[in-house]
Amino acid sequence: MGVRLPRWLGSADDLPQGMFVHVVSEHIAGVAATVYIACPSCGTKRTLTRDHKIKDGKVTPALACANKACSFLDYVELESWGVPV
Ligand SMILES: [Zn+2]
Repeated sequence: MGVRLPRWLGSADDLPQGMFVHVVSEHIAGVAATVYIACPSCGTKRTLTRDHKIKDGKVTPALACANKACSFLDYVELESWGVPV
């Protein structure tokens, strides 16, 4: 099981359903990188937390949707992870 999510190159605000975007932003304290994922089932956006690990694009543990009305729960793989944009 598992779902492959293509990379979105636009802004996180416009992230389409079933894709992910890697946002790197510079703060006063340093550089922060955030991965946003739009649920493949309902499109609800969520971020990955410190509880999640990414190895070769594979995210563990399995990802649950942030929308409580949505039953999505699966392993996701981020396509082209580690490829410079
Ligand atoms: Zn969902």
